[in-house]
Amino acid sequence: MDLIQFQKLFNKEPRYRLGQAKRAFFHDLIKNWQEAMVLPLSLREKLNKECPIGIPAKTFISKDKNTIKALFTLKDDLKIEAVLMRHKDKRNTICVSSQVGCPLNCAFCATGKMGFKRNLEISEVVEQVLFFARYLKQIGEKITNIVFMGMGEPFLNYQNIIESITILNDKEGFNLGARRFSISTAGIIEGIEKLAKEKLQINLAVSLHAPNDKLRSKLMPIDKKYPIKKILSSIDGYIKKTRRRVMFEYIMIKNLNDSKKHAQALAKFMNKPFYFVNLISCNPTGIFKPSSLLRIKKFQEILEKEGVIVTKRYRFGQGIKAACGQLAISDNK
Ligand code: SF4
Repeated sequence: MDLIQFQKLFNKEPRYRLGQAKRAFFHDLIKNWQEAMVLPLSLREKLNKECPIGIPAKTFISKDKNTIKALFTLKDDLKIEAVLMRHKDKRNTICVSSQVGCPLNCAFCATGKMGFKRNLEISEVVEQVLFFARYLKQIGEKITNIVFMGMGEPFLNYQNIIESITILNDKEGFNLGARRFSISTAGIIEGIEKLAKEKLQINLAVSLHAPNDKLRSKLMPIDKKYPIKKILSSIDGYIKKTRRRVMFEYIMIKNLNDSKKHAQALAKFMNKPFYFVNLISCNPTGIFKPSSLLRIKKFQEILEKEGVIVTKRYRFGQGIKAACGQLAISDNK
């Protein structure tokens, strides 16, 4: 839906009408304005004509039905993907894209290989969420968490991502609590500093993936601009201001960053209050292979012995190429 056009259509309507329409769209999750019976017929017809709310997408469902990937075709025919992960503990997490492609070209990531096309508009971000909210409504469930870990670097589309979160957090609309949102960054310092000043209490994750710049810059070329030391210093500033925990993501890649030495080096600077490390088994995207479960367990033990808080991420959606680092559209313009 074109959000600017949507607001415009209510300029000449009584003030309460906009609230009614927002509630129908974001809360009742209508798929056609004719369903918003609270609005007069003439307004419903006008909305359907000038501000249609269909969200077409192609879906791919994993064998265990716990992961659903949606492929959206945008108005300029570019394509993006978003993923719904249905957890055993009843959480429903949506992994949302923030850009078409990505300029950062991380070595382990299929999105990076696509190159960068453009930033997503606010409505294109919001629609990824609403698509799955409508999907879940059919089975009596709701979205519980939204993570900006799909295609693209969210902090390179900072304003649109924050405005999308503000819309989805709005009590009059979708009303998902701020703490249910997480942004994952490759370490864009300006974004970390701006987020520290926002009133929204959202979660922050940083993709680390290596314990030193030599290795990290091979995996993530952006490390040359934003090396580990600078990122950690901006994170410490963020924590001082927000008193919020920060997650450091570490993809476990076989024989590359998963040795005892790597764990010991990582532990030296991750053993801090408000820091925690999330170990993620690498998903195959080409040359990289996942570390064995035993290797990950040993890595975790070394970190924990040094007092680092560690969590592990469950793998979702490999079979439908919906897992971390696997989102990519081969026929994008
Ligand atoms: S991992 Fe994230 S930041 Fe790196 S290329 Fe992929 S989408 Fe971009």
